[in-house]
Amino acid sequence: GGLSDRKRHVAVFAFPYGTHAAPLLNLVVKLARDALHVTFSFFTTQQSSHSLLSSISFSKTIPQNIKFFAVSDGIPGGLDLTHHHPSRQLDLFLEAGPQNLKKSLDMAVSEINMRVTCVISDAFVTSSLVLAQEYGVPWIALWTSYTCSLSAHFYTELIREKYRVRDDDEEDGSLAFINPSFSKFKTQDLPESIILKDEEEESTFSKTLASMGRVLPEAECVVVNFYEELDPPQMVQDLRSKMKSLIYAGFLNLSLPLPPPPPADTDQTGSLRWLDEHSAKSLIYISLGTVVSPPPHEIAAIAEALEALEDVPFLWSLKEHSKAFLPKGFLERTSTKGKVVPWAPQTLVLAHESVGVFVTHGGCNSVSESLSSGVPMICRPYFGDQLMAVRMVEDVWEVGVKIEGGSFTKNALIRSLKFVLKEEEGRVMRQKAEKLKNTVIEAVGQNGKTAKEFPTLVKIIS
Ligand code: UDP
Repeated sequence: GGLSDRKRHVAVFAFPYGTHAAPLLNLVVKLARDALHVTFSFFTTQQSSHSLLSSISFSKTIPQNIKFFAVSDGIPGGLDLTHHHPSRQLDLFLEAGPQNLKKSLDMAVSEINMRVTCVISDAFVTSSLVLAQEYGVPWIALWTSYTCSLSAHFYTELIREKYRVRDDDEEDGSLAFINPSFSKFKTQDLPESIILKDEEEESTFSKTLASMGRVLPEAECVVVNFYEELDPPQMVQDLRSKMKSLIYAGFLNLSLPLPPPPPADTDQTGSLRWLDEHSAKSLIYISLGTVVSPPPHEIAAIAEALEALEDVPFLWSLKEHSKAFLPKGFLERTSTKGKVVPWAPQTLVLAHESVGVFVTHGGCNSVSESLSSGVPMICRPYFGDQLMAVRMVEDVWEVGVKIEGGSFTKNALIRSLKFVLKEEEGRVMRQKAEKLKNTVIEAVGQNGKTAKEFPTLVKIIS
């Protein structure tokens, strides 16, 4: 039978790795609530949808007009990836291309009997642009990271002309030559794909990132997981001039203001109860996100620093397999002043008044959560967009410090912790963090730019 095209059907393509699919789903949930007459098909891998929907409280709030469909991860049957670099799976997914997405899309279209009228996609899934062009429908891309890294991708060629190889030790490498909004950034802050390591073979993932500056101007609209009020105005202006439309959707992983803490029985690791036992701004919270696996000596260094600061309590979200690298007897010796858990309800932890400082890898979601709660940060960035995010924290917002020397050592961490928790400059930093929290609160509200711009997005998909 004929497919109805009066009805609106938005196909949504997630990038199924890291903390990518969650903000996209949150964006779609927000849109689906405002556009009840629109049907959304959400495409991601089985594994990714499993982890997205595993939180029951979240899956209950998903509107009926969002349907989930599985898309293949692109890993050929029988291929064992255990001995490959973890990034190999990203490449395989991207290399599976438009054909892979189309297979699932065709199934969805026939199942719900509606033609596709719009495509929303993670910016990384550039194959979905090919589909949107084939169907002649608008393509909307979500950039899940900060706008500063998006901005850098637009200048890849210009940067490569000036700096041929990436030199991590280089103290210079200023990017101010691009335009004044880059004056705080250096080549060492850039995601790896912008300046390649010498003679490195470029992965599909890296090529995809390098293509962002060419691909994103094709989008009807680029949506960012951020608030305009937090970005340097020059950067915003420059980005806007390069795209058809740019919409700041706010921190998509946070429904601000935060909901009340869950009842104690859902705080499975007892993290929140632990925080309740401590006085205001007294405690260190440590988490390095979901992707980074810090080298053993850095785990040991963190432990040694925590143990040395005798009077300072801590909560440490540490993956089970990393526990093996803790110094012998550490857990027993620190059991009265510290708690190590495999997973913490981080947004609620950061919003808890007992947390005085956050030791983080600078993942965008973690930084956003910290900014929203006014918690100063000690950052140890590892790769990708973490480096630029940390530069924003340290030199643009001035609400945190990058760890001295760039990686965790016992003494560097002790010095940073004392600095942030106890010293005069640290006090100024804490005040700035508090002020920035208020900026976020205003940006979230009805008078914020996000509230004003969001209806434009609803209009495009409707
Ligand atoms: N997170 C959490 N509990 C933990 C560790 C992490 O809830 O114990 C959440 C954290 O709140 C954040 C996400 O996992 O929303 C990590 O995302 P981020 O962008 O910071 O880092 P990534 O994992 O992508 O490196």
